[in-house]
Amino acid sequence: IRRNAGEAEFHQAVREVLESLGRVVAKHPEYLDKALIERICEPERQIIFRVPWTDDSNQVRINRGFRVQFNSAMGPYKGGLRFHPSVNVGIIKFLGFEQTFKNALTGLPIGGGKGGSDFDPKGRSDAEVMRFCQSFITELYRHLGEYTDVPAGDIGVGAREIGYMFGQYKRLTNRYEAGVLTGKGLFYGGSLARKEATGYGNTYFTRAMLQTGGEDFDGKTVVVSGSGNVAIYTIEKVQSYGGKVVACSDSSGYVVDENGLDLNLIKEIKEVRRGRISEYLRLKGDSSGVYFVKAGDGSIWDVPCQVALPSATQNELTGKDARRLIENGVIAVGEGANMPCTPEAIRSFQQAGIRFAPGKAANAGGVATSALEMQQNASRDRWSFEKTESRLAEIMRDIHDSCFETAEEYGVPGDYVTGANIAGFIRVAEPMLAFGVI
Ligand code: NDP
Repeated sequence: IRRNAGEAEFHQAVREVLESLGRVVAKHPEYLDKALIERICEPERQIIFRVPWTDDSNQVRINRGFRVQFNSAMGPYKGGLRFHPSVNVGIIKFLGFEQTFKNALTGLPIGGGKGGSDFDPKGRSDAEVMRFCQSFITELYRHLGEYTDVPAGDIGVGAREIGYMFGQYKRLTNRYEAGVLTGKGLFYGGSLARKEATGYGNTYFTRAMLQTGGEDFDGKTVVVSGSGNVAIYTIEKVQSYGGKVVACSDSSGYVVDENGLDLNLIKEIKEVRRGRISEYLRLKGDSSGVYFVKAGDGSIWDVPCQVALPSATQNELTGKDARRLIENGVIAVGEGANMPCTPEAIRSFQQAGIRFAPGKAANAGGVATSALEMQQNASRDRWSFEKTESRLAEIMRDIHDSCFETAEEYGVPGDYVTGANIAGFIRVAEPMLAFGVI
């Protein structure tokens, strides 16, 4: 704890994994002999750098850039870049740590990493975002490469930012190395279904979990927090299975539409206008059953639902929120975001027998499809939407089954948290043992 002072989110993520590992080391004492747990908790490399750029009024601005190359036992470091004012080293380390196990769970050859900056793209012009991205990559490019480290998007980083970063990488290296970044546009090496993958993937996982109890999305009332990339494509898939999604949010508050959210309108507000979710109320012609609650005046988790899919950010669903959801009859929770539920919330769900899908398993569809994008780049191929989506569905089914079966094998049936932690850990631990002490 002293070595990682002040990194609260990193401590939280590590504690959650370590709590699951007692059962593993009882079976595999060799993991303790070789200090595997200590090694797995220490990133292989951490890069922190200055990102200077000039705003539209010619003022020089400084942000801090991060890349934590956490673990390369399974393959090149892989994980997103987050641009958000809250970013600090503890947040990037928690995300990189989670990413290592998540990537292992996909069964694909990718290690774990994460990066980003405390830059806030909100309210910035395209030209400012471009200059920031160019400056960021001008430092980071020397640490990247299709066999070394392959970043993708995350909060605040979508196709626009990836485009600017890829352009600058290409210019600096004089190499058209398509596999160095994923989440690229479709015109230059991006994969169909990547944009949809995390939201669709969480829906597949949560559906598989519901089905173990003979349930499905059809006819269920669902709440999805956030209204970014993950949230939008979660809503799309849930609706296609007959679920009625009644609420979503952004940092300004949440909107409820008792008739079921109008997804085209949300896409228009978020993907086209880059606007705020409060505009839903104004733009929705018939507004009966529609209302908006400002951030601070209530929680989206007060809205009654049977399935809750938190898809905004870490620690957004607290113990109090969990108790309210349980009172209101929730039967399943699937984490679209990374670590959106606090430890207290997870305990409440588990004690109440609510099916709970942890993010490192449930939201792995995004990185899995990024690995499929790398596969297409490496073979200079381009798959159809259907082929990519069916591969994604198969991967999510495998992740579900491996968490489910591992939980049974280790004596905690139905505990997907322990199942995911153990299954992910063993996949990383085995190659690390084989490599010796490095
Ligand atoms: P986006 O930037 O597209 O959307 C994020 C959404 O969450 C926005 O609606 C945003 O609102 C809201 N949000 C972010 N931070 C906060 C905050 N501090 N308080 C309240 N609301 C907030 O990001 P993504 O959809 O890509 O990512 C969402 C989550 O999913 C993150 O935890 C990310 O790590 C995780 N994830 C993403 C993957 C991907 O493929 N994109 C893959 C796996 C996990 P506002 O615009 O107002 O800030």
